[in-house]
Amino acid sequence: MNIKVASIVALTMVAFNAMALPKALVWDKLSLNEFKEARDLAKGTVLLPFGCVEKHGRHLPLGTDSLVGMYLCEKASEIEPVLVYNIGNLGAVWESKHWLGTVAISHNTLTAVLDDLCNEFARNGCTNVVIVNCHGGNSGFLQSFVRSRLEKPRTYNVYYHEDKFSNKNYAEWRRRFGEVPTYGHACIYETSLMLYAFPELVHMDKINVEESMPKYRQRDMSKARLFTPIDWYAECDTQSYGDPSKATKEMGEFFMDIHITNLVNAVRMVKNDSLMPALRAEFDKHCANPQY
Ligand SMILES: [Zn+2]
Repeated sequence: MNIKVASIVALTMVAFNAMALPKALVWDKLSLNEFKEARDLAKGTVLLPFGCVEKHGRHLPLGTDSLVGMYLCEKASEIEPVLVYNIGNLGAVWESKHWLGTVAISHNTLTAVLDDLCNEFARNGCTNVVIVNCHGGNSGFLQSFVRSRLEKPRTYNVYYHEDKFSNKNYAEWRRRFGEVPTYGHACIYETSLMLYAFPELVHMDKINVEESMPKYRQRDMSKARLFTPIDWYAECDTQSYGDPSKATKEMGEFFMDIHITNLVNAVRMVKNDSLMPALRAEFDKHCANPQY
């Protein structure tokens, strides 16, 4: 084979291989050979979406956060190659145990599962783990898990991503859709996301506006910088925070685009990150021989 033909064959093989992979690199949907190729394309980076199962008003499915998390990660993977691991519906959600359908997993169990997963990802050559949080109640637990990785040297690098709207995003929201209303749960924001991504699972006719406004029962304590385990129940015992009745698919597309853009940016940063692993190695070395 001459060089020209060989290079055409090589290019064709690259194109063929690239085409052979699914658009989104979802770990459990890949065959063995696809997995190896996907892992290399992803530079050993894996997204771990983290949601929960709990009441979302009376019009959204219980697994809204987990569904949105997987959707978001798959869309990001279609743009920037990265593996996505479907952890299912596990989440820290004790604050809504008073409603039927909630499945609250203990922090001890979640820690053990995450620890095993991170170790297994690393053993398979995926040493960059990005936990993508899609449920507000997970934040404290997940950040604590990430920090606890300093307990001893690890075989992987762990990152935490939880998206927030910027001032620019809010300005654009106002420009395109009018004033930003009170929102927080099963609200105009989450309902719009679901209308865009999973319209068949949204039941707009079941919205109960009367039970959708926060109660502010512990606002004085919050102002005094006091945190209590019952704060969410005090504000939002109905699990509906903000009127969702004006939610639209168009708004959902606007919100989802922001989240996808920010997640893709985060993935690219992780794939090219050499600073955090270097600092971590330096830190571990000093921990073994503390400085003074
Ligand atoms: Zn939610």
